[in-house]
Amino acid sequence: MLSITTLLFPACPDLLLEEITREGQTLFLTVRSSKKAMACPDCAKVAAKVHSRYPRTLADVSLMDYAVRLRVQVRRFFCSNPACARKTFAELLADLAVAHARRTNRQASRLRAIAKELGGRPAARESENVLMPVSRHTLLRLLRCTELPTAPLPRVLGVDDWSLRKGQTYGTLLVDLQRHRIVELLPDREAETLEAWLAAHPGVEVISRDRAGAYAQGARKGAPQAQQVTDRFHLLLNLQEALKRLFERKQEALQEAAQQHGFLKPSTSSDGPAEGLPLNPTPLTPTVIGKQARRARRLKRYEEVMQLHEQGASQVRIAALMGLHRDTVRRYLTASSFPEIMRPGKRSRLDPYKKYLQQRWAEGEQNVKHLLVELRERGYRQGETIVYEYLRTLRKPPEGMDASEVQKKTTVHSAAQRALSAREAAWLFVCNPQKLRLSQARRLDHLRVTHEDLGLAYQLAQDFRVMVTRRQAPVLGRWLEEAKASGIKELQSLATGIYRDFDAVRAALATKYSNGQTEGKVNKLKCIKRQMYGRAKFDLLRQRMLLRA
Ligand SMILES: [Zn+2]
Repeated sequence: MLSITTLLFPACPDLLLEEITREGQTLFLTVRSSKKAMACPDCAKVAAKVHSRYPRTLADVSLMDYAVRLRVQVRRFFCSNPACARKTFAELLADLAVAHARRTNRQASRLRAIAKELGGRPAARESENVLMPVSRHTLLRLLRCTELPTAPLPRVLGVDDWSLRKGQTYGTLLVDLQRHRIVELLPDREAETLEAWLAAHPGVEVISRDRAGAYAQGARKGAPQAQQVTDRFHLLLNLQEALKRLFERKQEALQEAAQQHGFLKPSTSSDGPAEGLPLNPTPLTPTVIGKQARRARRLKRYEEVMQLHEQGASQVRIAALMGLHRDTVRRYLTASSFPEIMRPGKRSRLDPYKKYLQQRWAEGEQNVKHLLVELRERGYRQGETIVYEYLRTLRKPPEGMDASEVQKKTTVHSAAQRALSAREAAWLFVCNPQKLRLSQARRLDHLRVTHEDLGLAYQLAQDFRVMVTRRQAPVLGRWLEEAKASGIKELQSLATGIYRDFDAVRAALATKYSNGQTEGKVNKLKCIKRQMYGRAKFDLLRQRMLLRA
């Protein structure tokens, strides 16, 4: 049968349990070592002559509903080696507790785990719950002195900043993008700090960073051999910022669009033409806008190809200059006119499920949430919006109201009449037009159609978005030239910025690495920071992040 000592102290086979007493909710276990002799820590000669004994109390992990304390009789030995400088030494309880500790190793490691997960105060409360009560100071001290796991040197490094105090103090997060691990937290976002880290951790081959100048400089100096890659998401943010500045300059256009939009009649209204109709009587849907933009882009490309051809450039040369496939160039040159793309009608991913939805609807199940659950069970993996929209078509109007009235009601409610902010307008310009709601598409449409420069800005913005999201590196040069030639100063200055960082931006459009993962880790960090009520000290945050990396 298992002896109780082995059961209670599996890591310390030499321990003898002598007595168990209970005081309130605490069990006191009196233990001693059964070893007859001990090696001197200085000279390693085995000593058996006991000088004295003294008691040591250690807090241990709890047992059932009891807190547990160990009372250990520690012996002091005489060193038997006359040549040794040490006369006496206390026996070590190495597997049980480190010298001078007030708790066993296993209790310390449990408390560390709690502190790692919960931080200061919540961890202190939890330590009471698990009958190992300690103060938050003790927990934080344990956390601070926890040894960090040694991570292998990263080859592909993600760099991003995070705020220790919003708008005041920033730090830097380094992520191993191949191993999906946080590598380090730096206390600021200065070039020198990153440079020093890179110099001390050689071997980084790719550095994915945002377009902040400090990281570019730090990376160049600290790891000159590494390929720098800007983050695609940040590129889109830069575009959005540029557009926001553009709209701040064009406030009157936004005001005007809002007024126009207020007069918009719902498109399905049965009323005849009335005053205040929109400039374009058939409002463009997002899909149509997207199509138009793509067609315009292709047409422009086609015209450029033809122009180069007339100037005598070969097909190969045109392909290289334009960043097009040679087959595309050949197709353009052999076509009698601009080749339109004919696509079959687009099928909805909901199509296979429509019959089922109709059937359930007819059976009386008209709860959208329930129906969604049923669709998911049947393998539907797409978004909820198209389900909602499809079900709306199945819904009969309430009695006493005909369909056009329902439509009118919903349209009027959803069409806010206040002017868009510059930020909102910028977002509309950057967004994938397929993802816009109809009311958004209408506003966007108005802005594009009534202002020539905004129309051009929109086209450039969409070209940029497509180039970045589809990683079309060969197109970058041409986009920059178009932006330069656009006469829109905000986009010109964006282009200037990109020229300055050209290699890294081009790399961003040519590699698969992005900082998305790094940003995910930044969110995790924010979460932990919030848990510590935003008062987290840098070293503790670093410790917690790296321990759970
Ligand atoms: Zn000795």
